[in-house]
Amino acid sequence: MRGLSNLAEAFVNFVYPPVCSTCEGALKHGEAYVCTRCWESFERVPPTESIIQLIEEKFLADEAVDKIDSVFLFEQDPRVREAVHLLKYSGAELIAAQFGLFIARKIVDDPKLSMCDTIAPVPLHPARRRERGYNQSELIARSLSDILGVNHSPDLLVRTRQTMTQTLFDAEGRKKNIMGAFSLGKMPVDGIEGTKILLIDDVITTGSTIKECARTLKTNGVLEVYAASAAITI
Ligand SMILES: [Zn+2]
Repeated sequence: MRGLSNLAEAFVNFVYPPVCSTCEGALKHGEAYVCTRCWESFERVPPTESIIQLIEEKFLADEAVDKIDSVFLFEQDPRVREAVHLLKYSGAELIAAQFGLFIARKIVDDPKLSMCDTIAPVPLHPARRRERGYNQSELIARSLSDILGVNHSPDLLVRTRQTMTQTLFDAEGRKKNIMGAFSLGKMPVDGIEGTKILLIDDVITTGSTIKECARTLKTNGVLEVYAASAAITI
């Protein structure tokens, strides 16, 4: 069966050679949807002091999140937006694995982000999850946890309230819209009290969602909450 599907795939690839969805160049063996050269050339969050300070002022001000990092610039590079868009379609697992790899490369030497006890994704509301069939942030979190060897708790947080899409609101409105939208779900075996948790999202925009997740965790005894995402708006 496996052999047959490989043969079928080889035939499809022969008739329609797969191309990079970004540069339309031919994909090499092992590449999927986006070629390695494009991945490596996406606009990154620059490692300069001024950017780090900007991110910290914007996302850490109310102390719900203790440290944050992200890999790609969402607004500045349309190719990044396209890759994030692919997460919502058939390419999800492969794109999520790449995003997980880039996040891992970025945070592997960070004494806080890489030394967390548990990795948990920002949850989707169950109705939306059913509709899509998966949570794209969970796929990224799983890839990252495999690479770093850190425990992954995909159901640690649950979204209990269906919120209106955050794009309809300004920063203050987003905060109100998301308030009280999360509660604790399935805990890791040793519980979460006094632990350090790394939250994973596909894109962080205003940070209101990640902050509300962090508040929910801290109310329940979590010591420190970190956040990392594939892309960020700064
Ligand atoms: Zn390409």
